[in-house]
Amino acid sequence: MVFYKTDEEIELLRESNILVSKTLAHVAGLLKVGITGKIIDKAAEEFIRDHGGVPGFKGYRGFPATLCLSKNSEVVHGIPDDHVFTENDLLSVDCGVILNGFYGDSAYSFAFKNVPEEVHELMRVTKKALYLGIEKCVPGNRIGDISFAIQHFCERENPYGIVRELVGHGIGRNLHEDPEVPNFGQKGKGPMLKSGMVIAIEPMVNLGDRRVKQGNDGWTILTRDSKPSVHFEHSVAVRDFGYDILSDHSYIEISMKNNSEIHFI
Ligand code: MG
Ligand code: MG
Repeated sequence: MVFYKTDEEIELLRESNILVSKTLAHVAGLLKVGITGKIIDKAAEEFIRDHGGVPGFKGYRGFPATLCLSKNSEVVHGIPDDHVFTENDLLSVDCGVILNGFYGDSAYSFAFKNVPEEVHELMRVTKKALYLGIEKCVPGNRIGDISFAIQHFCERENPYGIVRELVGHGIGRNLHEDPEVPNFGQKGKGPMLKSGMVIAIEPMVNLGDRRVKQGNDGWTILTRDSKPSVHFEHSVAVRDFGYDILSDHSYIEISMKNNSEIHFI
């Protein structure tokens, strides 16, 4: 069942998503060679709580941390640990918060200085695919229009593999609501988009084969061929006037520009 949001609820969802964006910006400022995922995770939790929020992922179905930190061939749902980041690491950071009873959910991928150009290109393509999907978030379109736009760009116009096993989702008072938002599909198919719908769109795109596997920790999803994977996510409201992006990656990009340890995409 889809829960349609009022204008007031959309503003609350925006506040939650801005807190997520600012938390990701805080993380972007901390990333450096030699720091661990656990330290980043603790800093993110403190930042969220200092701003009146509660980590949205911690405890969700038993997930043990504030952030999902997925490096290199890890696609999503990586658990922050004592791994020391090196200049060769690619890192996807996914963050959720609860603020005023509503969830925010957004993700961004970062490259340390030695990550090769072919991965930079994968990052640019994944990010552009996210925005191509968002452009389809207008009343009267269908979920399949979003799915097709993302898949076509990644798999037809570019040589990458779209992950099928994990999808975007509705978001509101629950982290995962209807409808599902696959990153693959057909134009004109699936639930119709209506004003008041709020969805998280999150392409997960692999440099190589699209297939994934489950890690031994029961959470982490990895590529089967061990090649890198990239993830970007925005929470987006469908409005009468068109799409309305509730999270805001510009906070992250400002923070990245001031951090010489990570490559600016
Ligand atoms: Mg997320
Ligand atoms: Mg999500």
